[in-house]
Order: sequence, then structure tokens, then C-alpha cells
Amino acid sequence: MDMTGGCLCGAVRFSYDGDIGPAGYCHCEDCRRCTGSAFNISVKCRLSAFHPRGAMGGYTKVGSSGFELRRYFCLNCGSPIYTSSHREPDLVYVKAGIFDDPGLIKPALEAWTCSEVAWAAIPLELARYERSRSEADMQT
Ligand SMILES: [Zn+2]
Ligand SMILES: [Zn+2]
Repeated sequence: MDMTGGCLCGAVRFSYDGDIGPAGYCHCEDCRRCTGSAFNISVKCRLSAFHPRGAMGGYTKVGSSGFELRRYFCLNCGSPIYTSSHREPDLVYVKAGIFDDPGLIKPALEAWTCSEVAWAAIPLELARYERSRSEADMQT
């Protein structure tokens, strides 16, 4: 099966024709910063089956694990696309949220829970809106 995905603006698109691996939550500080969110969710994929196209930037940093990670992002809209490492040259970790079919994503694990933030889990008592919160704001 051919899976597809892409960034917010559409300048970067990818197809993937391999087996889709488990998705992992990462609570490390670097993932928090580069996603701008509480954690990152990425999917283990085979490099040989991953076919991205479009202009990407890359940023290399030694991660918390002590190994260099290169994080790729769309040069136009800044969406994170995937991460690679010399430690696992045959693999890429593709951002779960950029797959066109989110139903493909099968979360299997959490990593770096030692740096998990208190707001990583969504409290059940929070107000929920099916769409924008502005609908509710207008009713008050
Ligand atoms: Zn883009
Ligand atoms: Zn991480």
C-alpha cells in the first residue's frame, strides 16, 4: 500500500511504500522545542521506502541520547517532516501528524518520560469544543 503525507503548505510531500512501524511518543526537551508542543509522535519507517520531495531544511544536534539527530522541516512553512540518525542509517522517523491518513498511526510506546511535562496528558475535566473555541466564546 502506498501511503502519502505532507507539510502544512504542501511544498513537501512524501510517499511511503514500506511497512509502517510503531509510532512512539517522545517527551524529550528537544522534541518539545522543535514541535512547539508537549511531545513529539513519530513513526519508524524504512529509509529505502520513504520518498520525500520538495525543499527541506535540516538541523543537526546531538540529542539527549548522545547521538547526532538531523531534523528535517519544510523550508516554506516550517512543518517538521522527519528525523534521521547515523545510529540507525536504514531508518527514518516520520512525524505522525503529517500522514494524510491519521488512522495509519499505531502508537506503541513513550520515550523520555523523565522529562515529560505535567501538561502532556489532557485532563478529562477540560472544556471540550467540537470545533473552534470561538463558538463558545460568542455564547457567553
Ligand atoms: Zn510546507
Ligand atoms: Zn525526542
